[in-house]
Amino acid sequence: IKLFRWQNIIMKVLCAVKRVVDYAVKPRVAPDGLGVLLKNIKMSMNPFCEIAVEQAVQLKEAGVADEVIAVSVGPKQAQETLRTALAMGADRAIHIQTDMRPDSDLQPLAVAKILAHVAEEEEAGLFVLGKQAIDDDSNQTGQMVAGLLDWPQATFLCDFKIEGEGFVAEREVDGGIQRISGPLPCVITTDLRLNEPRYATLPNIMKAKKKKIATKKLKDLDIDITSRHEVLDVSEPAERSAGIMVEDVDDLMVKLKEAGAL
Ligand code: AMP
Repeated sequence: IKLFRWQNIIMKVLCAVKRVVDYAVKPRVAPDGLGVLLKNIKMSMNPFCEIAVEQAVQLKEAGVADEVIAVSVGPKQAQETLRTALAMGADRAIHIQTDMRPDSDLQPLAVAKILAHVAEEEEAGLFVLGKQAIDDDSNQTGQMVAGLLDWPQATFLCDFKIEGEGFVAEREVDGGIQRISGPLPCVITTDLRLNEPRYATLPNIMKAKKKKIATKKLKDLDIDITSRHEVLDVSEPAERSAGIMVEDVDDLMVKLKEAGAL
């Protein structure tokens, strides 16, 4: 049995980072109509994953985590995303390499199985993930990692603390903040207001070059990654009709009435 070693205060924190199309890029549908074009497109770390790395690094700085390990499942270039995590303060990284299409073929259950496998192998005490990847908008992976590991989960967090041998977290829910607590090990997912991720400074980018990225090929892991659904087609959003300029507020009111909006 693999033992979680919180009692000896050796806590490894894993954080999952996904390489996605940069949030500022307007994606275009690929010619095969089954995904978006990724060639020559600016790719970056998923913004919620930046928040995950920041959370993990802050725990290390606060002395409650010993090691921060960034994990990414994706093509060779996912190593750039891992380097960013290392420059933000992660200690080492694990790259599970696959050329499966990250926004359609590589589905959340498959990623969750891989991440759960890494968590067991590393005997992690905490797994931090983004609440959602901005390419597939699935919002499934963290929840499924928790399910597969049979760990408690705290999702959509705006605050997180280790207290005693467990955690206390705050979640933004309709009409307020929900405080919850639970034991470790656990899985958490980050919402926008949890923290403000730091920028990787030049000296830290240089230091990160010396940190280790362990690479494994997905096909060498004995994990069933069969797709659970098929993408039938991906289409561009409907074109918006052009707007019109109004003279002043009175004109706006007239136009709104004419359009039946008032
Ligand atoms: P999703 O369920 O696809 O919306 O993704 C939620 C979170 O799961 C992301 O913010 C990442 O932390 C993690 N994740 C999803 N896909 C990957 C991947 N290919 N590699 C690493 N982490 C991932």
